[in-house]
Amino acid sequence: MGLSGTGPGLVDAHAHLARLPDPEGALRRAAAAGVRAVLAVLGEDAGDGAEAAVRAAGLPWAAARGIHPEQDWDGAAGVAALERARRFAPGPGTAAVGEVGLPSYTPVGAAGRRRAAEAFTRQLAVAEAAGLPVVVHAVHGAADPARRQLAGFRVRAVFHWLKAPPEVVEAIVADGHWVSVTPEVVWRERDRALLAHIPPDRILAETDAPCAHDPARRQPSEPADVAAVYAALAALQPEVDWVGRLAANYRAWLLGPAAPGGG
Ligand SMILES: [Zn+2]
Repeated sequence: MGLSGTGPGLVDAHAHLARLPDPEGALRRAAAAGVRAVLAVLGEDAGDGAEAAVRAAGLPWAAARGIHPEQDWDGAAGVAALERARRFAPGPGTAAVGEVGLPSYTPVGAAGRRRAAEAFTRQLAVAEAAGLPVVVHAVHGAADPARRQLAGFRVRAVFHWLKAPPEVVEAIVADGHWVSVTPEVVWRERDRALLAHIPPDRILAETDAPCAHDPARRQPSEPADVAAVYAALAALQPEVDWVGRLAANYRAWLLGPAAPGGG
């Protein structure tokens, strides 16, 4: 069983498995819904239960580790997070660094902004040295500054659940990165419009579970819900084989370009 789950099936490229109320049940339901690979964004969570749950479900998985950028960077928590970022090591079994980036929802002053940027830089340097891809959280006004910071490193990044102006989305794609979309593409015009600026080979699908997406129910999401992203993509661009396309995209982001003559 490989890391990437490149066989036919759906891929959830961003799920906080350690935060799901019932990871084992959620992954059983995911497998039943056709999900064949999950990127477990463990961040700084221990994730032992999540790992056991993925193994129990028989799914290929990969773990991402990193220091989340939404911290109180101006306060003591931010000072401590920067210290951890300076010592950051992804650890054995880590397949990606993430989610890391720049804060968008947490108010941050000038000192905090510098700390957040340094923490991001430190983790990008570790990713580059280890040859690991990066899961980036940087939305709205933080997206382009994060893209500029990334330009100093040779890493493959996915901008997860991106919200950004069209020209920033296009610059991210032009820099060779990927963009992952959530079940919000099903109903939210902003997310549907974003897709017009991303070629199919640069898209990944994710749930950001347990984050809620359905505006009516506001229930926690789980990896099985990634099927809604595939359905929305198929409705928008029926000519694309999305199952095959997104599996190939995930593999390219996670593992890098296939060696010449390799499989
Ligand atoms: Zn997330």
